[in-house]
Amino acid sequence: MHTPRYHWFLLLLVCWAAPAQAEPGATQQQFQPGETYFGHDQHIEYIAGDLPFILSAPHGGREKPEGIVDRKEGTFAFDIGTQELARAIAAEMHQQTGHWPHIIICRISRRKIDCNREIVEACAGNPAAEKIWHDWHRFLTAARDRVVQDFGRGLYIDLHGHGHKIGQLEMGYLHSQLDYDVSNEQLSAPQNVTASSLQAIAALNRRPYADLVRGDFALGTLLMDRGFPATPSKQRPVPTIPYFRGGYNTGRYGRDAAPLAGLQIETNSRGVRDNDKSRAAFAKALTDSLKIYFEAQIGLPLAAKSTPAVSAPVTNALCAPQPACCRRRFRCRARCR
Ligand SMILES: [Zn+2]
Repeated sequence: MHTPRYHWFLLLLVCWAAPAQAEPGATQQQFQPGETYFGHDQHIEYIAGDLPFILSAPHGGREKPEGIVDRKEGTFAFDIGTQELARAIAAEMHQQTGHWPHIIICRISRRKIDCNREIVEACAGNPAAEKIWHDWHRFLTAARDRVVQDFGRGLYIDLHGHGHKIGQLEMGYLHSQLDYDVSNEQLSAPQNVTASSLQAIAALNRRPYADLVRGDFALGTLLMDRGFPATPSKQRPVPTIPYFRGGYNTGRYGRDAAPLAGLQIETNSRGVRDNDKSRAAFAKALTDSLKIYFEAQIGLPLAAKSTPAVSAPVTNALCAPQPACCRRRFRCRARCR
């Protein structure tokens, strides 16, 4: 008789049938948008998507399997409510667009594994933890491959929670706090663009790099406009210390993943992730902001590939309802002519 564990084993065999080296389209066939897939013992969860957006929550896990010993060194802070916040964002985005973002959730405690570190610190040499770490990256890579295949570019956000005194969103682009304490011209210097997790977007963008992180249509500014204090942003251009600049995932799937770009968002708790109402409000603000951000900064609607606005040439009729930010942009104006 088949035990539930045996069923999971069969499911895993199916999941593993789509390695990163698979033929183009294989991952697309393997992972159905809106369906949930799991890694070993269900510790990593992947909700497959069809939007050009990937969201991961590495530190919101609660599971503490006895078979994996606790890590002895590193950081163990639990980002309370971030797993639930990721699910709320997925639900809101699906409601607004009719399609799914790619969501990757670590359901296991950070005491057992840190899914925002390289494998040595993440797993402390524990082979069972290393399997989970590889699940995490296998799903993220599948999501990245799908987004790049369908859209040629896209955005990744690594979602966290901080306990800093100032209640604001900390937008991490891999710059230190001091890097921001300069003029916009200095911030836009080539060495900062190269170091940025948004470098793939910056390469497409004709505006100075500083506009991308603290201009009118920076993600921090758009969130701040919707009632969620954020830094860096136009309103708060230089982060206060302490400030989280972005970690391992932001480097791997942002800076080093072109044509994908990415960032880390460290969320404050109150009003953002402390209860269902907060999470729903933030999910709406983030989705509303990303719809503008995608058009203004990435030149792509937050929509699935099958949506006519993505695959068909942009016409004057389609340009008309675009936000003012997009109409002002050179590239968009050129496309609209
Ligand atoms: Zn975290």
